[in-house]
Amino acid sequence: MSGEPYESALVEVDAPPEGPVPVLAVVGRPNVGKSTLVNRILGRREAVVEDVPGVTRDRVPYDASWGGRRFTVVDTGGWEPDAEGMAARVAAQAELAIDAADAVLLVVDARVGAQDTDDAVVRVLRRSGKPVVLAANKVDDQRTEADAAGLWSLGLGEPHPVSALHGRGSGDLLDAVLAALPEAPPQAEPEEGGPRRVALLGKPNVGKSSLLNQLAGAERVVVDPTAGTTRDPVDELVELGGRPWRFVDTAGIRRRVHQTQGADFYASLRTQSALEKAEVAIVLVDASQPLTEQDTRILSMVVEAGRALVIAYNKWDLLDDERREQLDKEIDRELVRITWAPRVNVSARTGWHVDRLVRALDTSLAGWETRVPTARLNAFLGELVAATPPPVRGGKQPKILFATQADVRPPRFVVFASGFLEPAYRRFIERRLREEFGFTGTPVEVSVRVRE
Ligand code: GDP
Ligand code: GDP
Repeated sequence: MSGEPYESALVEVDAPPEGPVPVLAVVGRPNVGKSTLVNRILGRREAVVEDVPGVTRDRVPYDASWGGRRFTVVDTGGWEPDAEGMAARVAAQAELAIDAADAVLLVVDARVGAQDTDDAVVRVLRRSGKPVVLAANKVDDQRTEADAAGLWSLGLGEPHPVSALHGRGSGDLLDAVLAALPEAPPQAEPEEGGPRRVALLGKPNVGKSSLLNQLAGAERVVVDPTAGTTRDPVDELVELGGRPWRFVDTAGIRRRVHQTQGADFYASLRTQSALEKAEVAIVLVDASQPLTEQDTRILSMVVEAGRALVIAYNKWDLLDDERREQLDKEIDRELVRITWAPRVNVSARTGWHVDRLVRALDTSLAGWETRVPTARLNAFLGELVAATPPPVRGGKQPKILFATQADVRPPRFVVFASGFLEPAYRRFIERRLREEFGFTGTPVEVSVRVRE
């Protein structure tokens, strides 16, 4: 896949609403007007790839929206009409697309009526149990509307008369499509636009309260009147780089729970609850001592919570050359799975490099919120799969159909495939995604939807 035909898609990333985007598959025989209809659905915003020999239009996903709701359209056209085995092939192709979709738009040419191939696709649709919207296309005028009524015989409910070419009836059709698609769940995002929420984490004695004092002392600490009491504030507003940041659950840091019994339990409880409230975590590790299991456990908790991450190597003032060398090896060995996290060397005691945390926080948060346009994602994925196809498993080569970015904060990708993808291959995709699109400082999730 060349990047060329997708250029236009890059321009139209206008801060789309978050949340998983439902997928609509458009299926039907060749020449019934699927791509014309997809063009109609997309409006003037994006042109469907033309039928150029060698360029397949098959299963190309597009970002669409109607009535303020976003969805992904998968055009399943593009396979060559050939008389032999046509019905079976269309049905097989449609089956893949249907399986990946949340709802299906079946396009039938109302002027020629239902054909054998349509029946084959209808059987597949019935089996799938997916919601279906039936488009009776090429109803260009009032006169041909009677043709549409003939399609009740398919047993898929009301045929929606439409002229993909002229636009007649397309609004009503899209309303029906939206009704068939699941709502994208609303995003859980409290206080949008407020100060960024930071969790300051690390095992006892690593220097959390020292760092907080540095950060707060260097600039102004604002006690947040809305949270907790003034004597025991839950969060602290700290101004860094000229902006306020909300350090969550600082009361837990100040209280020094680790001096009491059951410290570990409460420390991990505090970590979990701070993570739930935070967008980004600064995990402090003691650079002067070997990394412990407690450090890696805290780092894993951040990744599992899907939060942006900055690793701060504290007590840098205590390092000698020998320890510095050790530390490099330790990082290579213990932190291979989170090489994407920015690292900042600091001294909470002296305040050395503490100011560098701001840029790292910004970088990680930007990675956390990155959205890759669907067309660009699939152009990239097409090249990746062509160069390195998924390994054969049980004598079968799993086919990768397409992918969408279902979510941001953190970025989550869903790859639609015809078979199981080895975890190693999934990690390979994640690695390549990172190389291509950055995602510094954020976990990235790649999941696979497989057709059974
Ligand atoms: P696909 O193979 O199903 O994707 O079909 P196309 O979108 O390529 O359309 C096949 C042909 O039907 C093209 O010549 C279109 O111009 C024509 N066509 C598509 N929609 C309509 C329609 O609503 N009315 C009429 N009259 N022709 C249409
Ligand atoms: P917390 O338990 O994570 O809040 O850690 P504290 O901030 O209470 O620090 C524990 C001990 O480490 C204290 O004695 C601090 O003075 C010391 N400490 C913290 N940061 C540094 C640092 O950067 N360098 C050195 N040398 N000591 C530090």
